[in-house]
Amino acid sequence: MERVYNFSAGPSMLPVEVLEQAAKEMVCYKDSGMSVMEMSHRSAVYEDIINRAETSLREIMNIPSNYKVLFLQGGASSQFAMVPLNLMKGSKKADYLLTGEWSKKAIAEAKRYGEVKVIASSEDKVFSYIPEYNKADFTKDADYFHITSNNTIFGTKFTELPDVGDVPLVADMSSNILSEVIDVSKYGIIYAGAQKNMGPAGLTVIIIREDLIGNEMDITPTMFKYSTHAKNGSMFNTPPTYAIYIAGLVFDWIKSKGGLAVVEKINNEKANLLYNFLDDSELFKGTVEKKDRSLMNVCFVLPNAELDSKFIKEAGKLGFVNLKGHRSVGGMRASIYNAMPIEGVQKLVDFMKSFETENK
Ligand SMILES: *Cc1c(COP(=O)(O)O)cnc(C)c1O
Repeated sequence: MERVYNFSAGPSMLPVEVLEQAAKEMVCYKDSGMSVMEMSHRSAVYEDIINRAETSLREIMNIPSNYKVLFLQGGASSQFAMVPLNLMKGSKKADYLLTGEWSKKAIAEAKRYGEVKVIASSEDKVFSYIPEYNKADFTKDADYFHITSNNTIFGTKFTELPDVGDVPLVADMSSNILSEVIDVSKYGIIYAGAQKNMGPAGLTVIIIREDLIGNEMDITPTMFKYSTHAKNGSMFNTPPTYAIYIAGLVFDWIKSKGGLAVVEKINNEKANLLYNFLDDSELFKGTVEKKDRSLMNVCFVLPNAELDSKFIKEAGKLGFVNLKGHRSVGGMRASIYNAMPIEGVQKLVDFMKSFETENK
């Protein structure tokens, strides 16, 4: 069978070149005589794999030397607790912007450990926009300020970062890490589950400024302390070895494309193809405020739920799969992460055009 165009929100498409290389090396990695899955994480050959993955990521994101990169497990969802446990050490206060289901979960978890202030929310309109906020409302002595930089379910993203001054900015970047050039030095912590734009599920990448490590609450479990993992080069316990290996191949793939600036340009072209079509269409409608549109998750609807299901069904037959929107929003969502080629988006738009002609 041929590969389909997979618009899944996550786990999602990986570059075919990466899958092919992994297939080549699956049974016997280089001259190790074994698969990456079978090797000790403390062997020299594996050390080389994890070190190269980190070096590659540092290079493509231009990560400053006073930041640590951690390769952990537990998903972005574990970070919802790990962030407050490690950072709520001063005033025990934190500010959050409520922009979707993932921020809601992050807020609920942080409330278990300290005082959380929701500075602004877009829940009144099903999280279809990034809310305005007033800097005067920010907590001056907050231990950190948390945002979800891209809202996977609703298809919005921050185009401008809140001006938090000296308060560390923490970003859940699960669904837009590596989608565009960012300035890492603006953040205290960036965290992301790998399964959207970096690799297979099972790996969570944390990029953390060094001064934020080591001040965790006493109750923090050893495995939930950033210091535990920073001190041990992400090898306090067995890291997700194979997922790190694949992520390393994905980082190399980004380098081979010309880096994040090139990837960002392609991502803009891909997203514009879809958004321009949605803006011109009389049948399809984007669900998000234009200024806040995500580059990675494009949400849209047809005039009624019957047409939505008809569209999803017909698209599936043509090899455009996983277009159904999240159960909390309905409609459609096309997730177009880095690995989705521009042809996939162009062909989807062509199909949407013919669907519109037939169903007007
Ligand atoms: C997918 C996702 C999560 C959840 O990630 P897990 O790795 O499954 O815990 C959290 N935040 C955002 C923005 C996501 O897209």
